[in-house]
Amino acid sequence: MEFLTASNKKGLGDKVELFDKGILNAEGKDIVVIGGGDTAMDCVRTSVRQKAKSVKCLYRRDKENMPGSAREVANAEEEGVEFVWLSSPKKFKGTNKVENLIVDQIQLGEPDDSGRRRPQIKQGSEFEIKADMVIKALGFDPEDLPYLFDAKELQVTKWGTVKTDFDTMETNLKGVFAAGDIVRGASLVVWAIKDGRDAAVAMKTYLENIKLKKSKVA
Ligand SMILES: Cc1cc2nc3c(=O)[nH]c(=O)nc-3n(C[C@H](O)[C@H](O)[C@H](O)COP(=O)(O)OP(=O)(O)OC[C@H]3O[C@@H](n4cnc5c(N)ncnc54)[C@H](O)[C@@H]3O)c2cc1C
Repeated sequence: MEFLTASNKKGLGDKVELFDKGILNAEGKDIVVIGGGDTAMDCVRTSVRQKAKSVKCLYRRDKENMPGSAREVANAEEEGVEFVWLSSPKKFKGTNKVENLIVDQIQLGEPDDSGRRRPQIKQGSEFEIKADMVIKALGFDPEDLPYLFDAKELQVTKWGTVKTDFDTMETNLKGVFAAGDIVRGASLVVWAIKDGRDAAVAMKTYLENIKLKKSKVA
């Protein structure tokens, strides 16, 4: 996220110190992106546009078992990104900064709970890749939300996302609603917009019901 937002801000004409100092700037560098999702695809293609010397994408499964969109992979390949399938980083090496990655080769075993074949390290298969900059695009999880919001009673799912009523989008805290990625997990903008609209309608109904009850009492 640091890499992508720095690039966006720079594109919008902001002053971005870490970009100008070259820390979050891929220009002239050998870039390695770790991960196979849509964020990894954004990182590899952004690196190409920043005029990286080379861009490699390491993914522990093969092309058929990648979570990101196949079209994005094809577009990235077209732009010159090299995919190193069935590979998993083991160690970063370098003096003061990363210079090389030690990588294990992977073989796919039996399917896991998600139905995708489980990656297993091939013993003694390690190899080295040169890297000036490594970008980890390995997904994200919610923080400890009851702690973050100082609301211990807030109910969350086993994935740590906020639990809401399916119809009203209200959490177990009265008058508190939730929508978007914090409920669904990593998803898409269109769903966040839809959920936001549905939540707004549900909140309006909630407030109207309070008003109605008050006027009845009066
Ligand atoms: C790198 C990347 C690329 C993506 N590319 C695509 C794409 O191409 N197409 C697509 O459809 N989707 C894409 N997505 C997914 C999409 O960005 C999300 O599904 C969408 O932004 C979710 O919207 P949201 O409103 O639920 O959450 P967010 O957009 O994450 O908004 C949550 C907001 O809450 C703020 N916030 C957090 N904590 C607090 C707090 N305590 N108090 C106040 N504010 C707080 C955050 O700063 C943020 O502004 C991408 C995601 C990533 C990470």
